[in-house]
Order: sequence, then C-alpha cells, then structure tokens
Amino acid sequence: MGPKAERVRDIVARGSEALARAGVPNPVREARRLLSLAVGSPTAGLGPADWVPPCVGRRYRALLAQRGRRVPFQLIEGETGFLDFDLAVGPGVFIPRPETEELAERAIALLRSLPPRPLALDLGTGSGALALALARARPDVSVIAVDVSPRALAYARRNVRVHGLEERVEVRRSNWFSRVSERFHLIVANPPYVARPELASLDPEVRRYEPRRALDGGPDGLSAIRWILAHAPRHLLPQGAIVMEIGDGQAEEVLRFACRVPGLVETRVDRDLRGGERFFSGRCG
Ligand code: GLN
Repeated sequence: MGPKAERVRDIVARGSEALARAGVPNPVREARRLLSLAVGSPTAGLGPADWVPPCVGRRYRALLAQRGRRVPFQLIEGETGFLDFDLAVGPGVFIPRPETEELAERAIALLRSLPPRPLALDLGTGSGALALALARARPDVSVIAVDVSPRALAYARRNVRVHGLEERVEVRRSNWFSRVSERFHLIVANPPYVARPELASLDPEVRRYEPRRALDGGPDGLSAIRWILAHAPRHLLPQGAIVMEIGDGQAEEVLRFACRVPGLVETRVDRDLRGGERFFSGRCG
C-alpha cells in the first residue's frame, strides 16, 4: 500500500473485512475502535468521508494485524475500564470482565455496613480491579491485594500508584493465603474456575493471551474455589464476609462444599445480570 491518505469509510471497510476473516466478533465495531486508537482520540469527530493521513493509516494497519492475531483489544490499548475507573493491563494479566464489576458492586454494598477502618482482602487480584474498587468506595478501608503472579503484581502496583492508593492498598505476593496471616472483615475473589477440559474451547483471545493461572480451576474447575473456602474462616473476623465469583453450573457443588466448612454460615449463590449463578457469599459465624 502506497503512502497516500485514505478515507475513513474505506479504511474501516478494509479493516473490518480483515478482522472478519480472522474470525473476530463484531468486526465493524472493532475496526472503528482500532481506528480511534490509531488516531489517538475518539473518532466521533471523524466522518466516513474524512481523510486519514498515511501515518495514521500505517499505525492502523499495525493495530489491525495484532487484533487479527486475536490479541484482545484491551491488551492492544493497554488499558480497560472497570466500574468508573481505568486500569492498565498487559501481557500476563487477566482482563477484568463485566461480571466481576457486579461482584465489586456486591462487595461494596457489604463494605458499607462494616465498622470504621475495616480490613479487606482481594485474593488473586490480577490487575488490582477489585482491590481498587473497594478502596475507592470507602475512604477508611484498607485492602491487602495478593497474587502469585509477578506480572500481575506489577500491574496491580502500577494501578494502585496511578490511583494514588498506596497508603491503603498493599500489594503482596502470596499463593492464596500462603503469606496472609491477618483476619479480615471482607474477603473478595475472582478465582480461576474454568474446568481444565474446557480451557481449549475458550475464545482465542482468552486461550492465547490471558494467563492460564487466572483461568484454570483444575479438573472440575473447583480446585481454587474449594481451597479458598476451606481456608477462609481462619482469615475472617467474626461476622466477616466472603464474596467470590464462580462458574456456570458450579453453584450446587460450591454450596454443598461450603456447608461442610466449619465456621462458614449464611452461604448462598446469587445470579448475575445474564441470569447465571455467579456470586457465592458466606459469613464467618
Ligand atoms: N469468566 C471468565 C472467562 O470468561 C473466567 C474467569 C475465571 O476463571 N475467573 O473466561
């Protein structure tokens, strides 16, 4: 392709065809989003007949090639939105999902009922999404955010710093509770819960570019969930609560297991906005 200016509609049409060939869902929308990224600002001001200079065209083609390899848009952009704030994300860190925003909202509702200066734990924090959501929701809460992955921890630290919350969010390397000795008013977690045999059928974006450790829940998807439930009571203060995301079809087994964990009461599973049984909660009785 020569170094000439092109019109927005042509560049988007060609881009969406390339993305469609690569099997990217919503190719037209994605082609437009990539063009915004190449332009460096929302394309709201750009009409279909407007001209795009060659340097933007070159940048666009590079972004298109990445997306064509099914690199998630958020990793190309290097950030993602979570509730009302932005998070840096990159290779090796799990991209927070909309259902985890719902988990955050539930945790925030619980947080509001806690006594002054509560302590919360985010297990497997990844980018720091849940920990930051909690810290932003209540000015007197302190959060310990743990993860086993150094790459995730680097992003969590960066996000905590960008949001100016180093005083109240401690990012710590720990394999679940391995380096956690405190007791908490609230524990939140979005653990890996995909059953290992199902990993191969995840979208290429997830399978190829997101950390397996954030997804792989063992043979039946419940390994991490069981581990967390079994150890949660000794890390919860009396009346302390745990809320945790779980996978489709796991509610029955999770509740059966939780019932047998001494000290865990008021266990329940609530549905997400799409109707899936998604949010386990329990209390230390
Ligand atoms: N819901 C995730 C997905 O889309 C799985 C998240 C998890 O295992 N915590 O792949």
